[in-house]
Amino acid sequence: MDVKLIVDEVRITPILISDPPLLNVQGVHQPATPRLVVEVVTRGGVSGLGETYGDAVYLDIARPLAEALPGRSVADVNGLFALADTAGPASPALPVDEGVDAGGLRGVRTADKLRLSVVSAFETACLDALGKTLGLPVHALLGGKVRDAVEYSAYLFYRWAAHPGTDAPTDDWGPALDPAGIVAQARRFDRLYGFHSFKLKGGVFAPEQEIAAVRALAEAFPGRPLRLDPNGAWSVETSLAVARELGDVLEYLEDPASGTGAMAEIAARTDVPLATNMCVTTFEEVPEAFAKGAVRIVLCDHHYWGGLHRTRELAALCRTYGVGLSMHSNTHLGISLAAMTQVAATLPELHHACDTHYPWQTEDVVTTRPVFRDGRLAVTDTPGLGVDLDRAALAALHRRWLDDDGTLRDRDDAAAMRRAAPDWTPAKW
Ligand SMILES: [Mg+2]
Repeated sequence: MDVKLIVDEVRITPILISDPPLLNVQGVHQPATPRLVVEVVTRGGVSGLGETYGDAVYLDIARPLAEALPGRSVADVNGLFALADTAGPASPALPVDEGVDAGGLRGVRTADKLRLSVVSAFETACLDALGKTLGLPVHALLGGKVRDAVEYSAYLFYRWAAHPGTDAPTDDWGPALDPAGIVAQARRFDRLYGFHSFKLKGGVFAPEQEIAAVRALAEAFPGRPLRLDPNGAWSVETSLAVARELGDVLEYLEDPASGTGAMAEIAARTDVPLATNMCVTTFEEVPEAFAKGAVRIVLCDHHYWGGLHRTRELAALCRTYGVGLSMHSNTHLGISLAAMTQVAATLPELHHACDTHYPWQTEDVVTTRPVFRDGRLAVTDTPGLGVDLDRAALAALHRRWLDDDGTLRDRDDAAAMRRAAPDWTPAKW
């Protein structure tokens, strides 16, 4: 084994990054959201970076894995999965095969999926370190890029101007609570980043209001791809009614209803393509969903699918079954965006613009923010992921995590909403 590739040290740093008051079916984003930064340092003196979800359950898995990794090679990324299994969580309180994650926004929550979400950050960090050592970009380690730029979609949200009940700093986007507000937000995204596709996060207001917003987008941006994602808030009948109303303008409808059964029922009765990042989020969920024709597009999140190699395995499955592939996004920073871009560059069958929350984030731990041009990010050939760590920024965001009294360390959109409306419960239509 090349001694330069041996892991000498692993640093895991939980951070809190500021987040705007974006609304969804589960409530409103908190003023800050947890992320976890993984840094793998080799005996060759190279540092590799990874990023994933940062709630306490992920930290519980990351700590023993970080302790177990030194002495192994950064080239042995396939070995990470078994290592995570044997290292195990320090805490026996790991939730097992039940419930849903982030209030349901990311589908089923299982111990295996949580573990994969952590492994993904270690895999990315190992690939970054390996690429830097070899002088190769991560995409070359995945077989090479098939495109020089990756297209992303504008991610439109109903939102408030500021977080209620806190002194959290706000941004200058203002409120967006009606069709005119959504169109204004879309125009700003178009002007700043050149995004061609627009996704609206729905499930916030009654379906008629969200239909009106999508109609307003279609009028403002004729012919542009539009998506609507209520995170499973609608019944089968409501979903079909929305599909009838918007069928002529939607690129796809994302998770209109919850669960593979409901999605299959809708899919059988409409020509509008259905996409998901909720009912197909693990390999175990693939056979039933594909057999039932429940989805036409899987929105992969490399974090919870287990990393960049697993993303390519999912791509092969989708290709085999004639199912489209694109990418899901939660609040994330530049490390994850670089990882998404590197793996997306290797996927020939990527025919829809990927989601990204990134433009909503005003803080980062990378030294240079990536720049969207014409809605795309260039695929760098710089060794590794092509990003560098801003240690001062990382330290400041870790300080915020340390100083937090515990209210922000686990994402809870419903709790944030109840600070404004104590009796609030998620709506279903
Ligand atoms: Mg979604």
